[in-house]
Amino acid sequence: ALAAGAEGVGLLRTEFLFQERSTPPDEEEQYTIYRHVAQQMGDRPLVIRTLDIGGDKPAPYLPLPHETNPFLGWRAIRVSLALRGFFLTQLRALLRAAEHGNIHILLPMVSTVGEVQQVQALLNLAAASLAEEGQPHRRDLPLGIMVEAPSAVQLVDQLAPLVDFFSIGTNDLTQYTFAADRTNERVAALADALHPAILRQIDGVLRVAHAHGRWCGLCGELAGDADAIPILLGLGLDEFSMAPARIPVAKQLINHLAMPVVRRLAQRALNAADGAAVRQLVAGLVR
Ligand code: PEP
Ligand code: MG
Repeated sequence: ALAAGAEGVGLLRTEFLFQERSTPPDEEEQYTIYRHVAQQMGDRPLVIRTLDIGGDKPAPYLPLPHETNPFLGWRAIRVSLALRGFFLTQLRALLRAAEHGNIHILLPMVSTVGEVQQVQALLNLAAASLAEEGQPHRRDLPLGIMVEAPSAVQLVDQLAPLVDFFSIGTNDLTQYTFAADRTNERVAALADALHPAILRQIDGVLRVAHAHGRWCGLCGELAGDADAIPILLGLGLDEFSMAPARIPVAKQLINHLAMPVVRRLAQRALNAADGAAVRQLVAGLVR
């Protein structure tokens, strides 16, 4: 990522540490890996997302039942809050690693205010136990949530006082908005993240987040999409998180865009008929 020009990490998915093995990583293993990445990144922000498992992402050592609707089921923060000891291990590892870099914690699939309050309580518990053991750690690291459930979009004003930042997850938000499973090819065309139905939600989240003094990034695939970047910039997005391979093109594009132009473009995109019409507007700009 650094070689490609990254100025931070917008989404470190910790699933990679937990999948394809027969036992979960313990606190020491997690701490070592988080610390290693934090040290590599130096002062640059490193956003580490807590475990987003369940749904379509299995782990043999967890009691994850087969579900008919895995994307609407027991996944992500819901699993973490139910398996408290398991989650506390990850939080302790993160608070310890935060001593070595600019770590931000990001919570996946938040759908209620109560979930964030529970995490805050668990963070206090993790910090208290580390303090008691004399383990160096930081409790004051930034906490953010992913906005990927439509309920979170509606609750940004209530969530803002509890968090330091937001990151919009358009991969999931799109499938939930259009009620179109992101893994089902038959409905893939419906789930268009550049559709005004999604852009209007991004616009709303940014307005409310900014009104509360919170920054807001986007870590779905959309942030690395050259058609989307001018619009996201025009809407006022603060942080673009993408696969490393997309960074050089995205940076070059952003360097060539003028804010007044993309602001106008974004306003027109909000009122376009569909995703195809949005792409046409962007094509016009690029020409
Ligand atoms: C998203 O839903 O946009 C996201 C970034 O999370 P994931 O793709 O890991 O579900
Ligand atoms: Mg997601």
